[in-house]
Amino acid sequence: MPVSDATGLDVEAIREDFPILDRKIGGDVTVPGPDEDDDTPLYYLDNAATSHTPRQVVEAMTEYYYEYNSNVHRGIHSLSQEASVAYEEAHDRVAEFVGADGREEVVFTKNTTEAFNLVAYTWGLTELEPGENVVTTQMEHHASLVTWQQLCEKQGAEVRYAEIDDDGRLDMDDLRAKVDDDTAMVSAVHVSNTLGTINPVEEITEIAHEHDALSFIDGAQAVPTRPVDVGEIDADFYAFSGHKMLGPTGIGVLYGKEGLLEELPPFLVGGAMIRRVEFEGATWEDLPWKFEAGTPPIAEAVGLTAAIDYLEDVGMDAIEQHERELATYAYDRLSEFDDVEIYGPREGRGGLVGFNLEGVHAHDLSSILDDHGVAVRAGDHCTQPLHDVLDVPASTRASFYLYNTREEIDELIDAVDTARQLFA
Ligand code: PLP
Repeated sequence: MPVSDATGLDVEAIREDFPILDRKIGGDVTVPGPDEDDDTPLYYLDNAATSHTPRQVVEAMTEYYYEYNSNVHRGIHSLSQEASVAYEEAHDRVAEFVGADGREEVVFTKNTTEAFNLVAYTWGLTELEPGENVVTTQMEHHASLVTWQQLCEKQGAEVRYAEIDDDGRLDMDDLRAKVDDDTAMVSAVHVSNTLGTINPVEEITEIAHEHDALSFIDGAQAVPTRPVDVGEIDADFYAFSGHKMLGPTGIGVLYGKEGLLEELPPFLVGGAMIRRVEFEGATWEDLPWKFEAGTPPIAEAVGLTAAIDYLEDVGMDAIEQHERELATYAYDRLSEFDDVEIYGPREGRGGLVGFNLEGVHAHDLSSILDDHGVAVRAGDHCTQPLHDVLDVPASTRASFYLYNTREEIDELIDAVDTARQLFA
């Protein structure tokens, strides 16, 4: 297990837990996996899209499949009981990790996107009234933005977007001005996946509560990279995805305050979420099972538990500091090029940097970077309206995690420089 302290991470030891980081690329990409033509080292800087999975997580999931694979909640037999304990305890582990009061407040979803949809379909369709409004921001991911748009359209409500300033920070005066007594929900991203901006989510929640509105914070980029305490934020809802925090795909989390979740109708219905069914109707299970219809992501919950164990062993404070250092280093090195435009603030940024090389489409740049083994994301990062505000069709984003190094950022810079000369 890697060691860490408040001053930094043992990145070399951490990297040994991630076999994929030793991969070479460059051969045939139409066939998954390595091939004989792969000869370029991989520099993986696409962690905001999906992080890699350490051996410990894969091994926990393998152990589940090899030793106690079974459906949960329903069986009396031993394997089912073992699987049920692991699945239920995964909720406790998540609750502890993000400061929730207990498993009742932790609903497993497919991902962050489903968590938003769950709230829109339950709270939104029953509580949001015509003439009310949802205040969100210009920097939201489509998971949030499109969900609020669709909900408001259905309910005859209005979506308002708090603006960003020239540095890519949220204009808090604008947000404050847009929240009024008809506001039913204030929803903001904790760490922007495009600008890297870290939003003052406690203050945003306070503003919502001053107007008796609820708050929903999108923590998809925050929970993996810094200590998060939903109780301190006082958010009513908070969402994140397992695959961005060393866990598997197929599992996400909706945190909700118990009293609120208690009041909401179910989202999906069917098996596992009911207490009693008669031909005349049905009653619902206790929290959180009321919101987990059908066979849930059991192996994924086991993997998520192992991912949290791993992150906590390394230390969330140390991870946050490492991210900050890498992001500042990347920001400063990219700033050396006068034809590179960087988005978002230098200070108060999470572990990612979005940028454009003048006159070069992000896809072309990304393809050149890939030739150098540098994996970044190019496109709109599911923030098309934000790109409209930035007045660019797309951007390139390098995003870092606990296993990345300054040397990998140097590779990024060299590859960007090669692209500059190619397109000059
Ligand atoms: N919100 C933010 C800020 C994100 O970065 C992402 C994913 O990139 C999402 C929401 C959606 O996450 P998922 O695709 O896991 O639902």
